Amino acid sequence: APSEVLAALEESYERVLRRDPGEPEFHQAVHEVLESLPPVLAARPELAAARLVERVIEPERQIVFRVPWQDDTGAIHVNRGFRVEFNSALGPYKGGLRFHPTVNLGVVKFLGFEQIFKNALTGLGIGGGKGGSDFDPHGRSDDEVMRFCQSFMTELQRHIGDHTDVPAGDIGVGAREIGFMFGQYRRVTNRWEAGVLTGKGLPWGGSAGRTEATGYGNVMFTAEMLKRRGEDLDGQQIVVSGSGNVAIYTIEKAQALGANVVTVSDSGGYVVDEKGIDLELLKKVKEIDRGRVSDYAELRGVSARYVPGGSVWDVPADIALPSATQNELDEAAALVLVRNGVKAVSEGANMPATPGAVHVFQDAGVAFGPGKAANAGGVAVSALEMRQNAGRESWAFERVEAELSTIMTTIHDTCFETAERYGAPGDYVTGANIAGFERVAGAMLAQGL
Ligand code: GLU
Repeated sequence: APSEVLAALEESYERVLRRDPGEPEFHQAVHEVLESLPPVLAARPELAAARLVERVIEPERQIVFRVPWQDDTGAIHVNRGFRVEFNSALGPYKGGLRFHPTVNLGVVKFLGFEQIFKNALTGLGIGGGKGGSDFDPHGRSDDEVMRFCQSFMTELQRHIGDHTDVPAGDIGVGAREIGFMFGQYRRVTNRWEAGVLTGKGLPWGGSAGRTEATGYGNVMFTAEMLKRRGEDLDGQQIVVSGSGNVAIYTIEKAQALGANVVTVSDSGGYVVDEKGIDLELLKKVKEIDRGRVSDYAELRGVSARYVPGGSVWDVPADIALPSATQNELDEAAALVLVRNGVKAVSEGANMPATPGAVHVFQDAGVAFGPGKAANAGGVAVSALEMRQNAGRESWAFERVEAELSTIMTTIHDTCFETAERYGAPGDYVTGANIAGFERVAGAMLAQGL
């Protein structure tokens, strides 16, 4: 790429560092996308001339608000709520809400930024956004979670709408929280507007398959990467991190395709289960009892070993599917995985592999699926949920799963072919970043300043 293209990118990145100090996750996500862009900016000077990079890295709108609520003892708490409406060139802002003590503006911006390109890759007409709160749902009663969700939505409702901004779940936000928030939206606005949130329960406007979509989609993406190498999932040994919604349905699909998944983890440690994870037991512990993976190990008995602390990436595997959270897999862990012969790594979580880890995998020739492509199945089925809501329809699980499969294959092929076209064969990171950027930048260019 010409030196003025590289200098402009460098300048854009430095402006982000200067303007948004203290947002390391956002800086990391921006850097990773910008690193991929020189070839496309060199090939399409009209995008550089319109300063599309400067424009796409600045959120359209950032909302920060107070969330006061009362716990079961009557004590008052004040949390902070966020919604970053990052880009609406391709459709209404779309992206989840994360409730976790680590949430701050920089984390929400990183997630919203990733979401722009992820959503563009689905081809389903959705812009990018993200939100959440530093509220910690762990150990809170249903009533406390309800009061928090109601307070959160009392403010958020004025900013969202089925043609404006459509939140969903992320870490700490599942069907229970979406239900409480949807109820409050309906009460406050006096509108039964199904398409304002996705991830709803089936009887009240939800989509079959939305719960499974992120995990299933990541396994489908992994299967496509393996197919290009003449392999499949049958008989492969897989390590999965995390034990939430993404991890559980990753395991379900991987097992259905004949793989042996041997680990799950949470913030306390990990479980290695030689016989393969017992999914029914894991679902009971996590989805019904809201327990920990140590509880799973205890109930499972001799075949499962609980390792407090420690790194799940020490367990040898053919395939690694990080499905917990950002930066959970660093360069040192990547080197261990490579030494143990890993063939494919695909991100179920958002940005779980650090930049150093990604380079280790790519240098070693490991197939690496970046989250914005590999975990797009969740938001893709959210878009199908919006479609069903708009048409007052309710599709069968089989139909949703078939559409999801087509979408994941298309995303895979788009990334693969884009990487090849821009001189980076097999590099799904470059392929995903360029293909996503081209779509959103093209729409922004067409729609003017
Ligand atoms: N939180 C999910 C993601 O990271 C899904 C968002 C949605 O369905 O809107 O893509």
